[in-house]
Amino acid sequence: MSSLLIQNATAVVTMNEGRETLYGVDILCDDGVIQSISQSGKPRSPHESAVPSISADAVIDADGMIVYPGLINTHHHLYQSMTRNISRVQHLELFDWLKALYQVWKGIDEEAVYYGALVGLGELLKSGCTTSCDHHYVFPKAAGYRLIDAELEAAAELGIRMVACRGSMSKGEKHGGLPPDNLVEDIDDILQDSERLINKYHDPSATSMRRIALAPCSPFSVSDDLMRETASIARMSGVRLHTHLAETRDEELDCLEKTGMRPLAYMESLGWLGPDVWFAHGVHFTGDEVNLLAVSSTGVAHCPTSNMKLSSGRAGLEAFLEAGVPVGLGVDGSASNDCSNMISEIRTCYLLHRLELGPCAPRPEDILHVATVGGASVIGWPELGRIAVGHPADMFAVDASNFDWVGAESGPMAALATLGCQRPVSFTIVAGKVVVSDGELVNVDEPTLAEQARKISRRLCAS
Ligand SMILES: [Zn+2]
Repeated sequence: MSSLLIQNATAVVTMNEGRETLYGVDILCDDGVIQSISQSGKPRSPHESAVPSISADAVIDADGMIVYPGLINTHHHLYQSMTRNISRVQHLELFDWLKALYQVWKGIDEEAVYYGALVGLGELLKSGCTTSCDHHYVFPKAAGYRLIDAELEAAAELGIRMVACRGSMSKGEKHGGLPPDNLVEDIDDILQDSERLINKYHDPSATSMRRIALAPCSPFSVSDDLMRETASIARMSGVRLHTHLAETRDEELDCLEKTGMRPLAYMESLGWLGPDVWFAHGVHFTGDEVNLLAVSSTGVAHCPTSNMKLSSGRAGLEAFLEAGVPVGLGVDGSASNDCSNMISEIRTCYLLHRLELGPCAPRPEDILHVATVGGASVIGWPELGRIAVGHPADMFAVDASNFDWVGAESGPMAALATLGCQRPVSFTIVAGKVVVSDGELVNVDEPTLAEQARKISRRLCAS
């Protein structure tokens, strides 16, 4: 594999153990891994001996740029990129919003999922995200079983790391669930496909480009049996478990009415607590429940924009951090966010908690930590989320010489939360390969992709 040198970066925000920011730095990547980080030609750890110059197959001049670790998106539904901004659902809250959109989503097929993934993952790469989860749980009968395969193909084409979460719905309206009966699957089919995907795609190595997780959609769309049996297969196979939980008060009341338990107690009763589990949202956890998450090392994907858009509430990020709950950031589906921009998510997160908590809110640096190291912890991939020798070479850069960052040079670690970035990032590197250059995706032609995706979206939204 070819080597890449990022030369003379104005600042490098490492998010290493000491949360160091380095200035005037070269980063050498080789074989997909960071080989050295050096200053003015003098390598830092672990090779302290002087090296007069560094040679590499390719060089990026990063003068004027601030380099950050690749961001990690811990929750998404990429297919929803094809169904954004549908007027008739914009005023609705979660349950009514879902019921209306199921009628659109029943028309998805392999092509819509593939293009939705290209668009959503493309937006993520252009906003500094280098690893994304996706939670795909809609499998219309006519669409076949290659939907997860299609999004993994899109990820490989773009060059982004992906954790594909095999979602599922098994409890339709006639059994007291929320989704229509024609959108739920047979449990045996779900479990069989889950095992197929794990066997075919899951790579647990530190430098893996794709992993599989198992992810029944939510307590209100999945039977007890499917939750239990999915957990059993995941633990036998060494893959992680993911679902939506404690997103809205409606969900809490529904769970209490049907099971007599609050959502977290219900999941605990099914064996769904532990360091291999992460829940999306966690807006409505009590203090005792937060402590239980911390003690069991159960993770949370915090999705502030989605929670604001669907009026679900404000998750207690400060409580998660104080208790030691593993917590990452997620953009959630594009239909409940309307974009897949991780830097916007960082800024929204910062502002939301500032509004409510004032001086007690998590600091900008803490939000960046959540979006990098925190996300890596939540998805069980601790090698990601920092710029350090020996770690996978995932990073991106913002050009700090533009108008919108003038005057902001004193705090690179805080800048993504306070300023955000109104443009695509200058470059994104995944596994030592440049996948965004000068703000453009390297591996696809953006206008051609957008045109094709728009055609498919129009057809889907009109159905
Ligand atoms: Zn979601």
